[in-house]
Amino acid sequence: MTISHHPPDELIADFATGRLDEANHLVVAVHLTQCPACRRFAGAMEHLAGAALEASEPVSMRADAFEAVLAKLDQPQPAPRAEVSSPSTLPDEDLPEILRRCRFGKQRRVAPGLKMQPIILPSASQSRAFLLWSAPGARMLQHSHSGTELTCVLKGSFSHEAGRYGPGDFDFGDGEVDHQPVVGPEEPCLCVVAMTGDLELHGLLGRMISPFVRL
Ligand SMILES: [Zn+2]
Repeated sequence: MTISHHPPDELIADFATGRLDEANHLVVAVHLTQCPACRRFAGAMEHLAGAALEASEPVSMRADAFEAVLAKLDQPQPAPRAEVSSPSTLPDEDLPEILRRCRFGKQRRVAPGLKMQPIILPSASQSRAFLLWSAPGARMLQHSHSGTELTCVLKGSFSHEAGRYGPGDFDFGDGEVDHQPVVGPEEPCLCVVAMTGDLELHGLLGRMISPFVRL
């Protein structure tokens, strides 16, 4: 696998120091499982963050901190979630291990040649995560985002102004990016996506159908 598109350094730093919400964390983690270079970088960032923590001055704690922790431990814990869905409910046989451990909602059709399946995250997340299938050769409507969109390709490919994205490649889109991806003709494209905010579709057709397109 040749990976040519990687997450921005700041995103990997936020991943390594635990500052990403669950959906964004998951999509960066999927890229890291496939990209040794980013894995090494994330490891170095974790190491640096750990060293900085060790070097920092101890912080004095409130007098009742110990009681507060005990009180928290006494609270009822949420039931453990099922770790592995049974294989028959998996949306795709070839998902990477990290996604095979996830739970999935119901698959649905978004637009012609486009379907999605939500990933059920263990706790509330600012961004949502889902799998996205696009038919070979599909041309997506030109769009930008009101928030961010993190995408890692699992199968197939798509291309837009910034280049071609194949398996393992990572695409970071924010409100400044306005693109129109085209799916490669070789096979359907499967991606894992984390998205905050909404898609903003452009052009007459985009404005006409955008009330019906919900991701
Ligand atoms: Zn990478």
